[in-house]
Amino acid sequence: MSQAKILVVDDDLDNRLIIRAALQVSDFDVCEAADGLEALDVVAKEMPDLILLDLSMPRLNGWEVARRLKGNPAFSNIPIFAFTAHAMAGDEKKAREAGCDDYVTKPCIPREVVAKIKLHLQGRKEGRHA
Ligand SMILES: [Mg+2]
Repeated sequence: MSQAKILVVDDDLDNRLIIRAALQVSDFDVCEAADGLEALDVVAKEMPDLILLDLSMPRLNGWEVARRLKGNPAFSNIPIFAFTAHAMAGDEKKAREAGCDDYVTKPCIPREVVAKIKLHLQGRKEGRHA
């Protein structure tokens, strides 16, 4: 039985491939988007269970994607993990203010990202997250 469906949004192909591979090893379904506008399309089509969202992207950045999704009742319940090299003080706060539920810094250890995603989804199932 496959696990939840994860949308991986990043304009860097290598980042998408690495995370996709790690998620698929753990039996997650994976969909991808290469920029913010594509991400909004894929969210509407695929209704993922969680979004891993790069912040710096062409066309529409991740902060704006998070704001739009969290502002739309159809999508506001989908957890969003910011996935970003912005690791300065204040960047996590900025991501959370845009609506991101958690924060993963790049470079990352893919299996740790997968573990964090699993933990979050398990917590939701058990009612520990809204
Ligand atoms: Mg980027």
